[in-house]
Amino acid sequence: MRIADRISHIAGDGSDGWEIYHRTLEMQARGERILPLTIGEHDIRTDPAILEAMNASARAGNTGYAFGPGHRDLREAIAARTEARTGVPTSWKNVVVTAGGQAALFASHMALLDADSTGLHCDPFYATYPGTIHATGARSRRVPTTSDRDFLPQEADILARAEGARTLLINTPNNPTGVVYDRATLEGIARAVTQADLWLISDEVYDSQVWTGEHISPRALPGMEERTIVIGSMSKSHAMTGSRLGWVVAPEPVAEAVTMLATSTTYGVPAFIQDAALFALNQGPAFEAKIAEPFRRRREIALRVLAGANAIRVIHSSGAMYVMLDIRATGLDGKGFANRLLDEEKIAVMPGESFGDASAGHIRVALTIADDQFEEALTRLAGFAERLLP
Ligand code: PMP
Repeated sequence: MRIADRISHIAGDGSDGWEIYHRTLEMQARGERILPLTIGEHDIRTDPAILEAMNASARAGNTGYAFGPGHRDLREAIAARTEARTGVPTSWKNVVVTAGGQAALFASHMALLDADSTGLHCDPFYATYPGTIHATGARSRRVPTTSDRDFLPQEADILARAEGARTLLINTPNNPTGVVYDRATLEGIARAVTQADLWLISDEVYDSQVWTGEHISPRALPGMEERTIVIGSMSKSHAMTGSRLGWVVAPEPVAEAVTMLATSTTYGVPAFIQDAALFALNQGPAFEAKIAEPFRRRREIALRVLAGANAIRVIHSSGAMYVMLDIRATGLDGKGFANRLLDEEKIAVMPGESFGDASAGHIRVALTIADDQFEEALTRLAGFAERLLP
């Protein structure tokens, strides 16, 4: 009797950086007041109007199996949103609705990686990436990036690690770095994946959270539509994390492969959730901007409070609900800094080490608590860092 190795491989890559998160929960359970800047969860709930639409759909009887790639009207709405944002003509046949962006990430890698093949992802990375690749039976390989280049993946670094790989997973706007990839970076990525003949899996779940510049989907670059799979989600754009609704936008053969997979995994996304998502998408871009607005404000607070700090360098912040801070001048690593900040200031942040080796010596701040508390937390964090200066 034994558990499959696959499972230990999924968990095996995790760093103990999550220790901070668990310690925070324990301290809170003991009644301590902690300012939590750890996880990417909105501090607002799903809009009541979306819940009304969900309720109305369920009450109307949409509670049976909803097998398949998603309702045609929802797939059309996702295709229209994709087309409006990227200019790339997109059919509903390119769209498969999944149980959140995470299921879309898993399904895409399942569809494109064989067991014992290799999938690339960038370092630093969103926590689930290595495990998602390993869950398919494939190996993962990291493409390192560097703090001094805002953690933007470089063409030469991708090519240097492309031997034998089939996929490259990128993420813009980026979690954990808060950086939106610029056009030159994306063009370099496009050249590298074309030369090495890789599929490009582009995680764009933060595409509604762009503070400076513009979000460019690599699928919109010349020649890239046929090798790019875009991952999207209602989680961040519409504050619907718990509803589990995401999607894959892909060339039709890949979309069909992802649909096949649903039969042996999720069996489709509940119809009343799909109807709620359609209602939400129909509210248009202004609604998405309203959901993103608190993060826009808090990013500005962070930049204002940290301007002139000697102990902290802010990584170029252009999108997503996070700001990445280089704290190496304090002499501590990310884990040491985060642990002392939690003990001494009761502020919880994620150590960069929990996102890979490339972001060691950094911390990630989530923009997910009320403005006044956020300003208090950042002011105290900055003071704490200054006192550590040699
Ligand atoms: N990709 C990234 C980069 C994320 O940060 C997240 C959520 N934190 C996801 C994908 C998955 O989101 P969901 O499954 O809720 O759509």
